[in-house]
Amino acid sequence: MKGYIEIDQERCKGCSFCIEYCPKKAIALSNKLNLKGYFVVDFQTDKDCTGCAVCAIMCPEVAIEVYRGGSN
Ligand code: SF4
Ligand code: SF4
Repeated sequence: MKGYIEIDQERCKGCSFCIEYCPKKAIALSNKLNLKGYFVVDFQTDKDCTGCAVCAIMCPEVAIEVYRGGSN
């Protein structure tokens, strides 16, 4: 199963929980600041995201939407 995620950068607080728990290492901290001044995380399209949704479950800010299937 292939998946991908979308991260709402204005909700993200850069806590890194999603990075720690993603079994595919498909999320990484970026050097981008959001409007609140937090460094936000980025989805890594070259990793094999499975759409497992662990990241979305762990995110305390509900900043991650998970999609499964598709052609990516
Ligand atoms: S859905 Fe699963 S594999 Fe994909 S980024 Fe989130 S935790 Fe990682
Ligand atoms: S768990 Fe949520 S708030 Fe924390 S870094 Fe990941 S997307 Fe941002």
